[in-house]
Amino acid sequence: MPQGPRQQQPPRSRTPAWLKVKTGKAELARRTRSLLRDCEVRTVCEAAMCPNIGECFCAGTATFMILGGVCTRDCRFCAVERGTPAPPDPEEPASVAEAAAKLGLDYVVLTCVTRDDLADGGAAHFVATMEALRGRITNIQIETLTSDFAGRVESLARVLQAHPAVYNHNVETVRRLQTSVRPQADYDRSIGVLRRAAELSADIPIKSGLMVGLGETVEEVEETFSDLADAGCSIVTIGQYLQPSPQHLPVASYVPPEQFKEYEQLGRERGIAQVVSGPFVRSSYHAGDVASLVD
Ligand code: SF4
Repeated sequence: MPQGPRQQQPPRSRTPAWLKVKTGKAELARRTRSLLRDCEVRTVCEAAMCPNIGECFCAGTATFMILGGVCTRDCRFCAVERGTPAPPDPEEPASVAEAAAKLGLDYVVLTCVTRDDLADGGAAHFVATMEALRGRITNIQIETLTSDFAGRVESLARVLQAHPAVYNHNVETVRRLQTSVRPQADYDRSIGVLRRAAELSADIPIKSGLMVGLGETVEEVEETFSDLADAGCSIVTIGQYLQPSPQHLPVASYVPPEQFKEYEQLGRERGIAQVVSGPFVRSSYHAGDVASLVD
């Protein structure tokens, strides 16, 4: 008898006991926050209300969000402000380099708001920020977590030519849920961006990530792993979706830790070398440690 799709368990309910964030010492987190304010830089940690912010800021690390604080897309899971952004700030690359130097970082994750209003999607600004970081910190490694650049291969190529330590673009969810989760994006376009990145730069590890708890089935997650492996991804992150506000998509289910373990196994079986899977895993969580595993 054919089996139906395996739904994640348990169904939507109050926040379960396993979703307890690590906070760390408030004073250390305050220090990081104030340093970032002084340097006038944005982080996705704050803009996207990341649950790991206490842990990461206490450890003196953060993920920089460049190209301003306003996104041109309307993804239903994301807390970043949306609207019409200002032109990129030419001072931002130097400010990010200053903040990274003051934090003592040797591995930096750079991400951005999506800038469909810019002809290059912000690629030149990415490269300028990478150059500023390298000019300021010797031997720094930079992971780039970009938008899909609306599919513009030349923008993708420009970032890859600057040789990031890891190239990352998130597929965010399974194929069926793309329209409700990220209406202006496209599953095949994202897979295409990852595939092209792998073709253009065989020596750069390619990474992607997705959220679970949005209503996907286990089989759909497995299919996504297969598509990502086929596109050339060697690192995939997978974490629980958390609703940032009542205006965002509701959580469909809280995925238990055992299911995250199973996803880790399934991802490896589908050909992905490093699957980082857990309720609080986010794209940039312990990114330097993860990157070192695929070097
Ligand atoms: S996991 Fe990433 S986005 Fe979240 S707080 Fe840590 S560095 Fe920031």
